[in-house]
Amino acid sequence: MTNKPHTFIDSIIMGFTGSSVNLIVPSHGTLCFDNSGRLFGHHKNHTSFSRGLDGRIIKKTWSPGKPCPHPQTIKELSKREIHQFHSHITHILRKCLRSADVCHMEIYYKSRKKHMSLWRIKKTLTALLHFTEERLTTDAQIFKQTYRPIGILPPDQYLSLVIQVTEGCSWNKCTFCRFYAGVSHKIRSQEEIMTHIDQVRQYVSSSLSRRCSLFLGDANAFDARPDTLIWACQTLSRLFPKQASPQSDGMGGIYSFGEVNRLLQWEKNDLIKLRLAGLRRVFIGVETGADKLRQWTRKPGTSEQVWQTVQKIKSSGISVGLVLLAGIGGKEHSALHATETEKLLLKMPLNNEDIVYFSPLSQGPSDKWTKLSRTASQHQIQDMTSMIQSLPTPPKTGLYNINEYLY
Ligand code: SF4
Repeated sequence: MTNKPHTFIDSIIMGFTGSSVNLIVPSHGTLCFDNSGRLFGHHKNHTSFSRGLDGRIIKKTWSPGKPCPHPQTIKELSKREIHQFHSHITHILRKCLRSADVCHMEIYYKSRKKHMSLWRIKKTLTALLHFTEERLTTDAQIFKQTYRPIGILPPDQYLSLVIQVTEGCSWNKCTFCRFYAGVSHKIRSQEEIMTHIDQVRQYVSSSLSRRCSLFLGDANAFDARPDTLIWACQTLSRLFPKQASPQSDGMGGIYSFGEVNRLLQWEKNDLIKLRLAGLRRVFIGVETGADKLRQWTRKPGTSEQVWQTVQKIKSSGISVGLVLLAGIGGKEHSALHATETEKLLLKMPLNNEDIVYFSPLSQGPSDKWTKLSRTASQHQIQDMTSMIQSLPTPPKTGLYNINEYLY
């Protein structure tokens, strides 16, 4: 290992997890690729880059020495920065390939050390290198032809396989939400869903193993007729048995967003059929328990209707994911939001199969309140989290930062 020019790397660790290939390269960080060779992540020191299938790249940074699960900065890269980023990745991969003959190489398959011939190592590195920026751009275009824009997903569903049974949001008027702006709403027929499933299967191909669950898009899959949605869940369970079944690591299953007014129209028997077909959790944008704030933000439904919906879903054996807006009501109505939301949560039959997310409000009707500071919003989240954790059977809690969303 001596007398090597500085253009060589001393050691490389190559790890195969079964669903991804990871390269750990000292002084260059970790590079992560799916089984098709698409780059999806690069981490170095306190910085990470995550690449979405649509080609967007989110950069996150953490403060050195301050252990915190939440990043200090989150930024989407510009086109120029994306180009620079890809050039940097190509540079690292070329260096790895050049060094393969002379560097110390360790190979792991599912955490177990393995032997791999130099020929195969070079073949893998060459394949990764061939997924160039140009090819990734073409891949992102195919992704955009396969899917209508995927507005948002719950944080635990970023690795799901999305199947759009509906498009957009039929309401699309909440003041704080721009996820489906400009997307026309549509309920797909069984035939259209089947065509979409075939296109998705073709697109994900060998990278399917990276997908942990199934998510029924978009804003409210329950806009579809019960027989269509039950058929969709049965079909998906048959075609993607691994993703549709709960796994020992807690992942797996079919998930969706649901809107209160529409869910109330569903018969409990149909919800039970959905559960039997694999539906595991419905995510509901509760936002707040305060009806005045719901009206101001044009959120459909009342807190009473939210409660009735949760009762109905839970009594059908399906879990719920509730999304609360931290900071709704601003400084003036912060206490109202906290008190009414607490009252609502206390009435609900929640348990550890459920999850409550706090999503910091990024926009709202500025004429109704003064924006809550970041610190005050964090305190509100901490107080509500403590309240939830003191429940007899507390649900899980988590932060839902929409700026981190990437599919
Ligand atoms: S918050 Fe939900 S119901 Fe309101 S516009 Fe957004 S997606 Fe539609």
